Amino acid sequence: MLTVNAYAAVSPTEPLVPTTIERRDVGPHDVLIEIKYAGICHSDIHTNRGDWGPVTYPMVTGHEIAGIVTQVGSAVTKHDVGDRVGVGCMVDSCGECRYCLAGEEQFCVKGNVGTYAGIGKDGLPTHGGYSTHIVVTEAFVLSIPDGLALDVAAPLLCAGITTYSPLNRWGAGPGKKVAVVGLGGLGHMGVQIAHAMSAEVTVLSQSLKKQEDGLRLGADHYYATSNPETFETLAGSFDLIINTVSAVIDVNAYLSLLAIDGALVSVGAPPEPLAVNAFALILGRRSFAGSAIGGIRETQEMLNFCAEHQLGAEIEVVAADQINEAYERVLASDVRYRFVIDAATLS
Ligand code: NAP
Ligand code: ZN
Repeated sequence: MLTVNAYAAVSPTEPLVPTTIERRDVGPHDVLIEIKYAGICHSDIHTNRGDWGPVTYPMVTGHEIAGIVTQVGSAVTKHDVGDRVGVGCMVDSCGECRYCLAGEEQFCVKGNVGTYAGIGKDGLPTHGGYSTHIVVTEAFVLSIPDGLALDVAAPLLCAGITTYSPLNRWGAGPGKKVAVVGLGGLGHMGVQIAHAMSAEVTVLSQSLKKQEDGLRLGADHYYATSNPETFETLAGSFDLIINTVSAVIDVNAYLSLLAIDGALVSVGAPPEPLAVNAFALILGRRSFAGSAIGGIRETQEMLNFCAEHQLGAEIEVVAADQINEAYERVLASDVRYRFVIDAATLS
C-alpha cells in the first residue's frame, strides 16, 4: 500500500479538507501515476454533496486526471515509466460483456468501476484525482499526445469526451447546425469540438456575459436564454442540441428549437427529473436522448482529435486550499472554463 496526500469531502455540507488515502500495490497489469493536474468537474460537486444519492465519506473525487507514469506492473505493455497519461471517469469494468467488448465500457452490464465512489475489484472504495498518485489497470489509462500540455488536457478526460461522444454519434459536421446549452466546463469543450468538426455552432447561455469568449472558442452565434425572443428567433433551427446544464431546464422550450428529426441530447445531470411534453417530440419527430462520457477507445480518439486540432480546456489552475472557493464559483456559473488543481500543492 502507498499512503498519499489527498483532499476529501467529509460530509455533504462541510468544506473539503486535506487527508491521506491508501493506493493499492502495483499489480502485474497496473500503472502507478504521479498526478500532475486534476480538473474540477461539476459531477464532483454533485457527488460530494449527495445530490445523486448518499455516498460514503471521506470522499476523494476527481476524474479528470493527467500525470506521469512512475511505475508499471510486470505484465504492462501499453505504458512505460515517464509516459504522459490520463485517467477519466472509469478505472475498470468486467471486460467481457457485449458493451465492454464493443469498447463502450461506460455501459458495462456489471457496472463500470467509477474512478471515485466506486468499488474496485479488490473490494475497496475507489478514490479519485484530488490526490498525488493513483494506481490504475493499464487498459483504463489513456495516452496524452505530445502536442497537449497536461494542465489543459486534464479536463478532456471528462468534459472533452462527454461532449465529443454525442457530437460524434449524432453527426455534428459540415452543414449541421449544433447548439450547446451552457458555457461551463463541458459546454466550452463542446463548442470547440463542434467547431473543429465543422458544424455551425450556437451557444445558448443564460446571459451574454461570456459572448466574446464563446465566439473566440469557435461559436458562430451566441444567444441569451434569459431573453424570451431567443426562443422565437431560433424556433425549429437546430439539427442537434447538446444540453450541458447542471440544473433543471425547460426541456420543451429547447425541443422547440429543433428542426424536424432533430435531437436534444442531455449530458447535464441535475438531480431532479427533466419533464418532457410528448407533443414537443411528436410534432417534429424529435428525439430527446442522453449520453454518458465515452468508451476508452473513443476517449483516446478524442484526445488525438484535440491534439490534431490544437484544442484544450481553458483553465484556471488552483492550489489545493482553493478547491472550496472554486466549488462556490462553479456553483455560481463563474468558471472560465475549468478549474484544474495543481497536484503539487497537495503535498
Ligand atoms: P459547469 O462548469 O458548472 O457548467 C454548467 C453550465 O450550465 C454553467 O456554466 C451555466 O452556463 C449553465 N447553468 C448552470 N446553472 C444553470 C441554471 N440554473 N439554468 C441554466 N443554465 C445554468 O458544469 P460541468 O462540469 O460542465 O457539468 C455540467 C453537467 O454535466 C453537470 O450536471 C455534470 O454532473 C454533468 N456531467 C455529465 C456527464 C455525462 O457523462 N453525462 C459527464 C460530466 C458531467 P451559462 O453561464 O453559460 O448559462
Ligand atoms: Zn466529470
